[in-house]
Amino acid sequence: MNSKNIRAAFLDFFEGKKHKIVASAPMVIKDDPTLMFTNAGMNQFKEFFLGNTRSKYPRIADTQKCLRVSGKHNDLEEVGKDTYHHTMFEMLGNWSFGDYFKKEAISWAWELLTEVYKIDPETLYVTVFEGSTDEDQLEMDQEAYDFWKGIIPEERILMGDKKDNFWEMGDQGPCGPCSEIHVDLRSAEEKAEVNGASLVNQDHPHVIEIWNLVFIQYNRKSNGQLEPLPEKHVDTGMGFERLCMALQGVKSNYDTDIFQPLIQALERFTGLSYGKDEAVDVAIRVISDHIRAVAFAIADGQLPSNTGAGYVIRRILRRAIRYGFTFLNIQEPFIYKLTPVLTEAMGEAFPELSEQQQLIENVIREEEHSFLKTLEQGLLLLEQSLKKTKGKVMDGRKAFELYDTYGFPIDLTALILEEKGYSLDEQGFEEAMQEQKSRSKSASEVTKEDWIVLKQGTSQEFVGYDQLEASVNLLKYRKVSTKKEGEQYQLVFTPTPFYPEGGGQVGDKGYLETPDGDVAYIVDTKRENNEIVHFAKELPKDLELPLTAVVDAGQRRRTAANHSATHLLHQALRKVLGTHVEQKGSAVHSRYLRFDFSHFSKMTEEELEQVEQFVNERIQENLPLQENRAIPMQEALQQGAMALFGEKYGEEVRTIRFGESIELCGGTHVNRTGDIWHFKIVSESAIAAGIRRIEAITSDAARNYYEEHLQDLQEIKSLFKGGKNAVESVKSLQEENAQLKKEIESLLREKAGSLKQELSREFEEVGGINFLARKVDLDASGMKDLAFELGGQYDNLFLLLAAEQGGKALLSCYISKPLVEKNKLNAGAIVRELGKYISGGGGGQPFFATAGGKNPDGIQKALEAARSFISE
Ligand code: ATP
Ligand code: MG
Repeated sequence: MNSKNIRAAFLDFFEGKKHKIVASAPMVIKDDPTLMFTNAGMNQFKEFFLGNTRSKYPRIADTQKCLRVSGKHNDLEEVGKDTYHHTMFEMLGNWSFGDYFKKEAISWAWELLTEVYKIDPETLYVTVFEGSTDEDQLEMDQEAYDFWKGIIPEERILMGDKKDNFWEMGDQGPCGPCSEIHVDLRSAEEKAEVNGASLVNQDHPHVIEIWNLVFIQYNRKSNGQLEPLPEKHVDTGMGFERLCMALQGVKSNYDTDIFQPLIQALERFTGLSYGKDEAVDVAIRVISDHIRAVAFAIADGQLPSNTGAGYVIRRILRRAIRYGFTFLNIQEPFIYKLTPVLTEAMGEAFPELSEQQQLIENVIREEEHSFLKTLEQGLLLLEQSLKKTKGKVMDGRKAFELYDTYGFPIDLTALILEEKGYSLDEQGFEEAMQEQKSRSKSASEVTKEDWIVLKQGTSQEFVGYDQLEASVNLLKYRKVSTKKEGEQYQLVFTPTPFYPEGGGQVGDKGYLETPDGDVAYIVDTKRENNEIVHFAKELPKDLELPLTAVVDAGQRRRTAANHSATHLLHQALRKVLGTHVEQKGSAVHSRYLRFDFSHFSKMTEEELEQVEQFVNERIQENLPLQENRAIPMQEALQQGAMALFGEKYGEEVRTIRFGESIELCGGTHVNRTGDIWHFKIVSESAIAAGIRRIEAITSDAARNYYEEHLQDLQEIKSLFKGGKNAVESVKSLQEENAQLKKEIESLLREKAGSLKQELSREFEEVGGINFLARKVDLDASGMKDLAFELGGQYDNLFLLLAAEQGGKALLSCYISKPLVEKNKLNAGAIVRELGKYISGGGGGQPFFATAGGKNPDGIQKALEAARSFISE
């Protein structure tokens, strides 16, 4: 069975069991402050488990793109070293939301594995939660045990502890006991020697967990306590790559048809073969794994960057580059060349890959290029640092600096040190690392108290498209605190007119007011687990009184103008530049808007003007907003709306149309484009290979922009006292200026000419030498010019010129070349000597040298001393 069929068979099976098949959620999570990447299939259903929202379908199945490189589930360091952990992998899952429970979950899993996939039941082991005696005091999962007992001999049902058999997504949230299914892939001889049961959950590469059935029945609260959920749910996750290994009769995920094309391509690029040398094999596994994580992240709209999720992606790619650099000995970009191979293998199941192949390739190539440069630099720095090292141990803090400032990986440092016969002070490195970690941790640490629920079972309604004010009921609140924001309260009330941050648009601000005029300000609004959460510095004094929630109308109006303008900008870019332009991110604030899009080159002045003009024409047409709040996705797409990659859409979507611009959008907008007032681009720049960024302003900000410019102009005009046309005035000023410059230059030339004549008359003959030591009113370059001109006319010249400039003293000494040789004179040595009189120093060539000093009072003495060099 090839991997495509294996995936399809899973989905077909659960469709047959009345499950709704849904698409994978994006791997990069945009609007959840608690999670950067999807790390399990259940993430996108968190709100259903918590009971915030009811799923339209009680049963769902899918394949979910997961990434386990940060937070509670982080497998990064294992990847490549073992053969069954990946950074990015597909998790096949089936879910019940308050519908079926353990019995069905267990028997269907068994049926699928043994009857559809035809895995030999003798090779399977299952685990059951044994209970815990710690503070949770959980009982053994007897129910699951009993169901398994009806299916599989008891000696293959194993008891497991909390670590393996109690699944939690993070420190807080839905969780519960689980039952895993393991498969023993060893040969008959190996099995005869060692019993498979003793190898379950022992990190044996051929006795591995393939499927985990989680029975979600608790919510882990902030104080660590478990609270039973009102309903019980099933959440299962099966590792697709591991399943393929089991079904394709191979012993490593990398030997399946999922990875083989990538590995073969790497063999072609490098001329090396997989399976001969463990170090090479690890590198090949690392690269063929990481290309998937990076490509899928970029396809989801997450570019490598220096912060947050972008930085995690950058580090994954850098890990791959470094393995290639060190173990495959490739010092030029090559990983990007795997992109077409990956698209070929996975593009059908994940069209976001094929549609963005070019972009993915460009971004990876550019990243490789710049990191390879960093590596080279790092190598140099390392060399230098070793030269300064006394003894044979490199300072751990130095190594940390290389790691932290230059992105130079520590294991590479260690490797190079080893090759050169040095060792690393690991403790020093660890200390520096820990210090930095605790610094950044305490900066980002969030503590959340539990929700205090005032009203149970009421769901929240958003009325912010139509109203900016509503009388509301407080449902629940809690205290949270972060280093950055300090203590804040989160409030959930209904209905709410507050727009939560999302789709690039910032959250609303405003206030809550009690009937007696007590006010609590709302500083931000965000969505969390499908609830709209309002952030306030203080609670309203009386929580029982009816409250009025009021959105800051000014901020909302300016934000809406920017959001609508963003849509028009998108439309304009596709018109002016072409339909290859795709939105790659946007930030809609009240003061400005930012729009990132794919395009291969810098935009020209004309293109920018055309874009501005296009948008402003749409504004002038005063197009009305045409909003459709709930339209089936398919229909919206048919009407011409574009879905963005990496965005999660429901079956019904909202569309926003202004004339011919139509977008899927949940944001707030102006009623007519005329309300945008005016659109002005303030910058255009590159943010990554093939990605450009435009920043622009509208409404009040555009008005301010023009008013400020107008004010500047008025001031300029008033400086010209009555001159009507400022441009003409500036032009004539420039002309006048140029004329004056010319005059000054010719005057200076004249002055220099007469000075030259004056000086030649002052030459004094000292032992056959034309000698002159004199103060002049020139700057350094004027003195030099003068000296060289005189030098061109006389060939036995000894000249010392001195000047005072800006409180400092300058000396120039010129000696004709024949004298330099014949009389053994050296201008450089002479100015150094004379420099003492002016408290300074200098130098130069034997025939011309200069000195500078901070004591102009010494000039006279220096001039007097000059004669001594020739009269001795
Ligand atoms: P393991 O102990 O092997 O790391 P896990 O307990 O972390 O697995 P779960 O969190 O229960 O795994 O995830 C469900 C399934 O997803 C696992 O049974 C396994 O098949 C698969 N899986 C988990 N982590 C990875 C990974 N890093 N790469 C590939 N598959 C994975
Ligand atoms: Mg794990």
